[in-house]
Amino acid sequence: MRQYCNVCSYPTSTCLCEFVNSQQAPADIIILQHERETLHAKNTARLVLLTLSNSTMVSGKTASDFDKIAETVTNSKAALIYPGDNSQPLESTAFTAGQFNTLIFLDGSWRQAYALYSMLPWLWNLPQWHFRHAPQSEYLIRHTSVDNSLSTLEAVAYSLQAGYNAQTKNLLSLQNAMQANWQGPTQHRRNRL
Ligand SMILES: [Zn+2]
Repeated sequence: MRQYCNVCSYPTSTCLCEFVNSQQAPADIIILQHERETLHAKNTARLVLLTLSNSTMVSGKTASDFDKIAETVTNSKAALIYPGDNSQPLESTAFTAGQFNTLIFLDGSWRQAYALYSMLPWLWNLPQWHFRHAPQSEYLIRHTSVDNSLSTLEAVAYSLQAGYNAQTKNLLSLQNAMQANWQGPTQHRRNRL
């Protein structure tokens, strides 16, 4: 039977704990996730949770699954990081001026993210931000043929870096470690069983 690490929840043979360097982000991070995405092993959202002590993820299928987090969001100065007709570039002074203490991300494919957005009306009134200068994604094990979209971890890292001038190498190096595991656990960690 396959054993799983109870801290990072990866199989013990590819446990990522030794690569985790925890830090606090300059804003609380909330990741909303479509339930179907939860099971995906290559999902980067949980790497965010392992790294950022003030990050949370809520997963659900119906709007009521998100009621509790909606209350938290309403009581904070929150920004939604999701492109749309009314979104502004995060790299603008308007973002900095907003002094947001909470950033919300929609995890999953574009289709799942859109489904979540459509289902949760309390998101619609939040100030919405997109990336004007998104970096090239380095998350290659799960790229889509459609676009070079960033992984959730990369979107979080870029937002913190561009919006708060924060250090994000702890996040990005954990994604690299996870990716290296997928590409070949044996060469990557030859000293372990
Ligand atoms: Zn672990």
